[in-house]
Amino acid sequence: MLKRFHHRIRGGFGAIALVALFTGGAGGVPDKAPAPDPRSTCCCRDCPDENGGPATSSAHPVGAVSDHVIVISIDGLRPDAIEKYGAKTLQRLIREGAYTLEAQTIYPSKTLPSHTSMLTGVPPEVHGIAFNDRQEGSGVVRVPTMFELAKARGFSTAAFFSKAKFHHLVRPGSLDYWQGPSSNIGHWMATRTVPDAVDYMKHERPNLMFVHVGEPDFAGHTFGWMSFAYKWAVKRADGAVDTVLKAADKTYGRGNYTVIVTSDHGGHDRDHGSDDPRDMTIPWIAWGKGVQAGMALSDSIRTMDTAATALWVLGIAEPESWAGRPVASAYTPEARLAVEQALSGAPAAALR
Ligand SMILES: [Zn+2]
Ligand SMILES: [Zn+2]
Repeated sequence: MLKRFHHRIRGGFGAIALVALFTGGAGGVPDKAPAPDPRSTCCCRDCPDENGGPATSSAHPVGAVSDHVIVISIDGLRPDAIEKYGAKTLQRLIREGAYTLEAQTIYPSKTLPSHTSMLTGVPPEVHGIAFNDRQEGSGVVRVPTMFELAKARGFSTAAFFSKAKFHHLVRPGSLDYWQGPSSNIGHWMATRTVPDAVDYMKHERPNLMFVHVGEPDFAGHTFGWMSFAYKWAVKRADGAVDTVLKAADKTYGRGNYTVIVTSDHGGHDRDHGSDDPRDMTIPWIAWGKGVQAGMALSDSIRTMDTAATALWVLGIAEPESWAGRPVASAYTPEARLAVEQALSGAPAAALR
């Protein structure tokens, strides 16, 4: 029963949920944030890995376009909500970056299968995550994640998840740090996840970082996509992106990092998961170092391209078996040259 809880928040929980959305109530609703579990909610450079082995340290390798990539996923964000609700940060990133409001997620358009494709570069029939909840005993995804491939090249990695089911994406040794709710029904608001990410960036400078913001999905299930509460959730998510970028400015220096903002699915009525365009269509925005400013992307971009693009920015070729491909058209000729040089083994100096 618990595994269906996320999609069953209705009625009596509405008032509680509304309060949480408007106040930013920390810890998730209606579930309270679980007490930190040092193994299941946090792992860091000083912690042992999941096999009990020593933590690994990175040797500060150099990225091709940028040394720092941040992927932000706003759960359940419909592209048409960005302008309709005046999401100012996202509108700024669109103006200053390269974007499409017609990218496509995978089918079924559900959170865990979709995020798995986003972060592994392959469709559900390859990664095997067809379920959309945390399943004890199902272990971790069977294919490498972008974190793992970056880590293998010596880059540091971090992930801030707002839902417990993301545990299935944490392959041993792939993340220097990660956190997420440990309760099966737990999800955190951005008021918890984002300050934790900001705090982390005060002390660490991850090369590849993922931040998951859950508000729009939560409001959509509870009150309906494009409802009044959904509008506020989108604005909250927009503010969360701004907060992450301000922290990144301090940590990496303004203009010295690259961002991808996207979503796992849209939604309609009070759900998603179908092949309806309102569920399947997602925003995809690249912004920051090496990105072609003010560029409307005509490519047909799919969510698998996010992993391939994040690695490409760091100068790592995606595996040939991947469905995802780098969205090179979002980047300047100089950035593309830098990646070509990096992939051919030449020093990647064009952007330095
Ligand atoms: Zn979702
Ligand atoms: Zn959902």
